[in-house]
Amino acid sequence: MTTHNTILIPGDGIGPEVSAAVRKVLDAADAPLIFHEHRAGVAALDAGLDVLPDATVDAIRKHGLALKGPCTTPVGEGFTSVNVQLRQRLDLYAAVRPVRSLDGVKTRFDDVDLVIFRENTEGLYAGVENDIVPGVVTSMKIATEKASLRIARRCFAYTQQRGRSKVTVFHKANIMKKSDGLFLRCVKQVHEAEFPGVTYETRIIDAGCMKLVQDPTQFDVLLMENFYGDVVSDLAAGLVGGLGVVPGANLGEDCAVFEAVHGSAPDIAGQKKANPLALLMSAVMLLNHLHESRGCDASHDTAERIKHAYNRALHDGATTRDLGGDLNTDTFADAVIERLP
Ligand code: ATP
Repeated sequence: MTTHNTILIPGDGIGPEVSAAVRKVLDAADAPLIFHEHRAGVAALDAGLDVLPDATVDAIRKHGLALKGPCTTPVGEGFTSVNVQLRQRLDLYAAVRPVRSLDGVKTRFDDVDLVIFRENTEGLYAGVENDIVPGVVTSMKIATEKASLRIARRCFAYTQQRGRSKVTVFHKANIMKKSDGLFLRCVKQVHEAEFPGVTYETRIIDAGCMKLVQDPTQFDVLLMENFYGDVVSDLAAGLVGGLGVVPGANLGEDCAVFEAVHGSAPDIAGQKKANPLALLMSAVMLLNHLHESRGCDASHDTAERIKHAYNRALHDGATTRDLGGDLNTDTFADAVIERLP
């Protein structure tokens, strides 16, 4: 069986707990992956390394694949987000976040099936902030044709390949006429020139969010710039059971880094309360990516078995506290392993 070298970044906060639980499930399922552990963020600083060591970035570049736990971003001070740095250094320009209702996870809606495409390299996340005079700062929102065209292309191609019904862009081009205006123009250009067969619509983001919480089934694939994608991802997570159940992929041309939408959740770190499912679902996305990009049938088979097992666990009410159950990080992983076909 062909195996695939994969970088594992456990992260910090709940990262090491959820990473260990996911690795246990992957090992039990005989996933065709060989893990190489690397540090980033607080874990790297604690080991006397740079916050994002070159060795970590180079290893992902070499093997093209990583599974990443959350890394804490200090609020209002300290180092630049490691998550953002990693996306920028590896040019992981597309964040893809499927948000789906799960059988056994009771929420207001039981038929949510969304995919969020978030531009991952610029916008307000460019991190260009300046003190102009005491008491006055600016934060620069950067939009380029290059980044806007490529995220649009990737999003429409995904929508078409998967036979999904439409792409909706969330924007605020009525206020940010230049930056969001450019984004919108680029998406329209890609749509008209390359994907005229895909249904396409636009929504001003505030009204779009209102509609999203009223009836998420009216949307399918949502495309937006970086900051809106961050906020709408957590909003959408709230529609299907919270941050414990939403996975993600950060995709570039040569590398792919899979990580949950949630952060390091310091409020519950070290207590085994965290739900490892979002990272496990991210690992399933990684396995499916291997199937699609490298034709690895064993990956697809493993992904299907793990999916079956966690769906079964949820259906049986074997859940962590965030979903109303009484399992902890490790016992949930065990419940999944017990149900592997
Ligand atoms: P960041 O900005 O770094 O992405 P965030 O603001 O999204 O972080 P999180 O760290 O994700 O914040 O935590 C938000 C809330 O969700 C916290 O109360 C946390 O306990 C909860 N939470 C996040 N992830 C999980 C998880 N895997 N299992 C259970 N609860 C979680």
